[in-house]
Amino acid sequence: MAFDEAALGVLGLAPLWTRRGARTAPHADRDTEAGAPVAAEPVSVPMSTAPLAAAPALVEAADAIRPGEPDQRDHEADALRDAFDEVAVRQPAPMQAPPVERASVAALDWEPLEARVAGCEQCRLCEKRTRTVFGVGDREADWMLIGEAPGENEDKQGEPFVGQAGKLLDSMLRALALARGENVYIANVVKCRPPGNRNPEPDEVARCEPYLQRQVALVKPRLIIALGRVAAQNLLKTDASISSLRGRVHRYEGVPVIVTYHPAYLLRSLTDKAKAWADLCLADDTYAQALSERAGE
Ligand code: URA
Repeated sequence: MAFDEAALGVLGLAPLWTRRGARTAPHADRDTEAGAPVAAEPVSVPMSTAPLAAAPALVEAADAIRPGEPDQRDHEADALRDAFDEVAVRQPAPMQAPPVERASVAALDWEPLEARVAGCEQCRLCEKRTRTVFGVGDREADWMLIGEAPGENEDKQGEPFVGQAGKLLDSMLRALALARGENVYIANVVKCRPPGNRNPEPDEVARCEPYLQRQVALVKPRLIIALGRVAAQNLLKTDASISSLRGRVHRYEGVPVIVTYHPAYLLRSLTDKAKAWADLCLADDTYAQALSERAGE
């Protein structure tokens, strides 16, 4: 697959930054990330200052796709918090949904699972939601993208990432020669919109977790990308900062996980788009490695 130049342009990375030895065939060249360790030391990812030279184009690209939409959550505040909070350890033991609920959800197939989510009243988020946002895409996808929670548009439409952040997410997918719904499944950590677009509370995440676990079990993705701090921290059960979680391979339910910035944050951060591109390259390499391991089984 060839990385899509136009999509890289939206990410603010083309034509100045493409992967070394750009590919013409699927995973034709693997460079240093190919052997990324799993849950080990951070791997080195290709970085460049070149995209910074494209700042005016980046501003234009971001402005073109975000006008007027209130940001979903305060991702800039998240980034600032990260800057001052490099290493953190999750304090309390993670909460869990009641065992009976977990076991019954774990037995559901797609249709009953979707129906269970649609009627869910396990936490207070049900009171203010317009629609539940179950997930969308290819239910046999190799790639699974997980965000934090529906925003205003998603709550109205019942589909994840349909706002301006979603458009950037689609561009990120195009940069990987992927598309929403084609070998990609998209879901959120919680299925209902937190009022005022606040971050989901730990008990809300815990009550919703069996649904996501079941979705992952049914999709059986080869790779998960965690979009943003809240998704990453809740999937990986850590309070570590996003900057410390990026650049290495984690695991969720046995599936490799790559952490990157939330698209809503990337709409406003020029320099971190370059880092997001490095994350996508690591994701692509990790996916190729997962495929080659499967081929060797
Ligand atoms: N942000 C998310 O994390 N998920 C969505 O579905 C939309 C915005």
